[in-house]
Amino acid sequence: MTKPRPCGCKGCRTCLICETQYGAENLKLQLELDKSKGYVYCPFCNKAWKGWDLNAYKQHPNHEGDSIEYPGVYIQLNFISEEEERDLMTNIDEVPWDISQSGRRKQNYGPKTNFKKKKVVVGKFEGFPAFSKYLQERFASIDLLKDYYVIEQCSLEYDPSKGASIDPHIDDCWIWGERIITVNCLSDTALTMTAFKGDLKKYNLYCAEEYGPVVSADGSILKGHKEEKSMLEACKSALPMML
Ligand SMILES: [Zn+2]
Ligand SMILES: [Zn+2]
Repeated sequence: MTKPRPCGCKGCRTCLICETQYGAENLKLQLELDKSKGYVYCPFCNKAWKGWDLNAYKQHPNHEGDSIEYPGVYIQLNFISEEEERDLMTNIDEVPWDISQSGRRKQNYGPKTNFKKKKVVVGKFEGFPAFSKYLQERFASIDLLKDYYVIEQCSLEYDPSKGASIDPHIDDCWIWGERIITVNCLSDTALTMTAFKGDLKKYNLYCAEEYGPVVSADGSILKGHKEEKSMLEACKSALPMML
């Protein structure tokens, strides 16, 4: 049952289609998250609130429970207008989608990356689509994203009717460095986080020691950040249980 299924899922990754039609229901249970150890980020007070209530930010400023500081996360609400969003979605949907795991569909633009071998080859990559150029340019309007450089751009579709999801993960620290950007469209979104306690080789996490942080532990933006302790160190001291 861990072999690839027609829906695109492999191994313990599942979606509603393989859970209901290919008997993958049991595989899913093995991945059940310990949601009691999660945090939900509030974009209004910039704190991570303990728990797994995806509406936690809607309670602002009347949060209940415990929160922690979590410097290095920045959420810009309404980064694009609804009209821009409609145009963007029309353009994205004109490009063929590839099926992916866990009920997702994707479109990838960028070089081919081998995270384990730390190799990048340009391959067939011919550049980013013109319809998203203004978005990449708008990133520069965010202080944290000054001198940010897009290496890869992906469109990811999460359709609730397919049970689409993604496992908690850390994006590769070798190639993507300190900053990773998500533009969420078509629905309200909450940022949730859960602690990773594992091998530093996973996600090339140890590489985060090799470059300077973009923000300091108090959330201020660093310039010429080489002398400062790395973000990984800052996170460790701010939040020992997170790593
Ligand atoms: Zn599936
Ligand atoms: Zn809040």
